[in-house]
Amino acid sequence: MAEDILAHVEKVQEEVEVATKPKAIIIDKNVCMKCYNCVRSCTVFNSVYEIGEDGYPYAARLDDCIMCLMCHFVCPTRAITHVGIRTVTILVLDKDIAQKMTKIM
Ligand code: SF4
Ligand code: SF4
Repeated sequence: MAEDILAHVEKVQEEVEVATKPKAIIIDKNVCMKCYNCVRSCTVFNSVYEIGEDGYPYAARLDDCIMCLMCHFVCPTRAITHVGIRTVTILVLDKDIAQKMTKIM
């Protein structure tokens, strides 16, 4: 168990170096409730998101995304997927912290 976690952290740290931009931002229209928290909370000056004609948000300025993932934190239905970086952001851990976690788990 502990070895598995540490191996994964090593892997994730490698991914961090190559994942500088999301390849895509996907909104799952099956669960999006059109609250627009993502549009309002996007930390980029003019927001990465726009609201489409169908009322759902979409990533109009993908290249501007700085991967802060604030939109994920405020989305009540987890409708947003940043392709290529989501697991990185969740699991970027300092190795010392990861080792402490393995003692707790
Ligand atoms: S990750 Fe940050 S910069 Fe990218 S779309 Fe979400 S809130 Fe905007
Ligand atoms: S925060 Fe989530 S539920 Fe709300 S509009 Fe954005 S994607 Fe849809």
